[in-house]
Amino acid sequence: PKITLLAGGGGGAKLAIGLAAILQPGQLSIIGNVADDQEFHGLWVSPDIDTITYSLAGLIDRSKGWGLANETSRTLEGLARLGSDDWMYLGDQDFATHIYRTELRRQGVRPSAIAQTIARALGVTANILLPSDDRMQTEVKTARGWLSFQEYFVREQCRPEVLELRIQGLEEARPTEEALAAIRDADLLILAPSNPLVSIGPILALPAIRNALEKTRATRVAVSPLIGGQTVKGPANRMLKAAGYSCSNLGVADCYRGLIDSLVIDVSDSADVAALQARGLKTLVTQTLMSSDADKACLARELLAIAGLAG
Ligand code: GDP
Ligand code: CA
Repeated sequence: PKITLLAGGGGGAKLAIGLAAILQPGQLSIIGNVADDQEFHGLWVSPDIDTITYSLAGLIDRSKGWGLANETSRTLEGLARLGSDDWMYLGDQDFATHIYRTELRRQGVRPSAIAQTIARALGVTANILLPSDDRMQTEVKTARGWLSFQEYFVREQCRPEVLELRIQGLEEARPTEEALAAIRDADLLILAPSNPLVSIGPILALPAIRNALEKTRATRVAVSPLIGGQTVKGPANRMLKAAGYSCSNLGVADCYRGLIDSLVIDVSDSADVAALQARGLKTLVTQTLMSSDADKACLARELLAIAGLAG
C-alpha cells in the first residue's frame, strides 16, 4: 500500500518513525512543513524537514526531539563571540546540513530535490516531500507586532499571546507535483498529531493541496495532537484559541473539516466521541501518546487497520 503522512516536526516525526518501522521502503511518503523555515547566518534552515529526516535516519537527539545526537556548539559560540545572534540553536554537525542545502539552492536545485538528496544521503528510505518549492513563512502577531515563527517559538519561547497567524508568500506559492501525486495516489492519508495551525495548516493552506485531499480516494485519518484536552508540547492549544477554534478535539476536527474521514483521539478524551460522530467523523479511541518506539509502531499499525491495510 501507499501511505502519505502530512507532518510537522515533533509529533509528526514520532509517527513517521512508527510508520517507517512497519512499512517497506518506498511505501511511505511524508509531506513536511516548510513554513517554519528561516535564514540564519546566511544559511537556509528548515527545522521541521530536518527533524523528520534526522528522526528517520536514527540521528535525532532523542532527549530533545530535534537536532542531531552528540552535538557540539563551537560554531555558534564563535558566531556569538563575533556579536552575531545565537538564540537559534544550531549545532556544529547540523550546520553542515544548512551549508549543503544553501549551496544547492544557490546552484538552482529545487528545494524538494535537495530535501530528497539529503534524506537519501543519510540513509532515509521514505520519500520526504515538500508541499511547495516556494517560500512560505508563518508569522505570529503579538502585542509587540509580527514575529517570524522562529522568533516567536525559539527566541520568545512561545510566551507572548498569539493574536493572529499569517503565512507570508502563500499567495505566490505553488504546490509541488510530487506532493499532489502523493495525496492523489495514496491508499491511506494521515494527518500527523502535529500543530494543526502552524505545522499542518500551512500545507493545507495551498488550495491545490486542499483540493487534492478533497478528491483523493485514500482513506483520510487525522491523529489529534491533544491528549486530555491539552497539548503534549508546544503552543497548539493557545493557537487553536487564537484562530477561533475550541481547544479540544472538536476544534481539531473543525480545522480539518471536509478533509478527513476519521479522527484518532486519546482514551483520556473518549467523552468527545459522540460530538465528533455528530460531525460525521469516524473515531478511533486509543493510546495516542508515543513515548517508546513500540508505542509509535503500535499507533502506526492501528492507523493502517482503519484503512483495512496490514503493515
Ligand atoms: P513541531 O513542528 O516540533 O512543533 O511539532 P509538530 O507540529 O509535529 O507537533 C507538535 C504537536 O505534537 C503538539 O501539539 C503536541 O501536542 C503533539 N504531540 C507531540 N507528541 C505527541 C504524542 O506522542 N502523541 C500525540 N497525540 N500528540 C503529540
Ligand atoms: Ca515546527
